[in-house]
Amino acid sequence: MLRSLRYGEADRILHLYTPGRGRVSAIAKGVRRARSRFGGRLEPFFRLQLDLHEGRGELLTVTGAQTVEAYARLRSDARALDAAARACDAVGRLFETDEPHPNVFNLLCRRLSLLDEHSSDVSRSAEDRPADRRSASSRADALAFRLKLMLAAGLAPQLGACAGCGEREHLVGFSAASGGVVCGACEAVSFPLDPDAYRFMTDALGLPLAEAPDAPQQALGQVERAIAETLEHHAHVRLMPAASAGTIA
Ligand SMILES: [Zn+2]
Repeated sequence: MLRSLRYGEADRILHLYTPGRGRVSAIAKGVRRARSRFGGRLEPFFRLQLDLHEGRGELLTVTGAQTVEAYARLRSDARALDAAARACDAVGRLFETDEPHPNVFNLLCRRLSLLDEHSSDVSRSAEDRPADRRSASSRADALAFRLKLMLAAGLAPQLGACAGCGEREHLVGFSAASGGVVCGACEAVSFPLDPDAYRFMTDALGLPLAEAPDAPQQALGQVERAIAETLEHHAHVRLMPAASAGTIA
């Protein structure tokens, strides 16, 4: 589930991302009553097995719900929770139709699992916590996730050669209008891109989410700008910042 909104006296409208039907909305009736048959199962970020009734309107009705994965540890970590909300928001904005993208569903589940595994749950002992890795709620991991979403949407920036002229060397800038990196001769409408930012984008697209690369904050800032300008230019989508200010600092 991506999001849940109060509706009427006791209902909720759920924004769902499904493997087979893309993004759908459904109403869960009476879910806010104390003795709802859904109990606490219909919460944002839960992975659910839902029975949905299709009526005449666009809105489906939830008739049954089972929890597949609650990501319980993620819920006790404010930063992981914030990162999960941003991940779900990005999926909802980039994939807002009923066109199925099962790979996007899998990618989101993977992102939530990683946030859950690496969350700093106070009830876990230090040995139990993966210490070899930075927090999955970092800005770098959020940007790697966004780049993979762009790839799934057919919006991945061109990185192999200059998007203006095809030159493979001296790629020094990024141009959303051209659709990727540009060389020194084509940089008129671009902004400068550090080698670290270039490497980050190439690695993030090629590696699994669990092995997402890292880069200095200045390079990550350039990556975030490249993503934001590409999405605005080619999909007219604006995303929230990849991470909260507290996570960047
Ligand atoms: Zn060029």
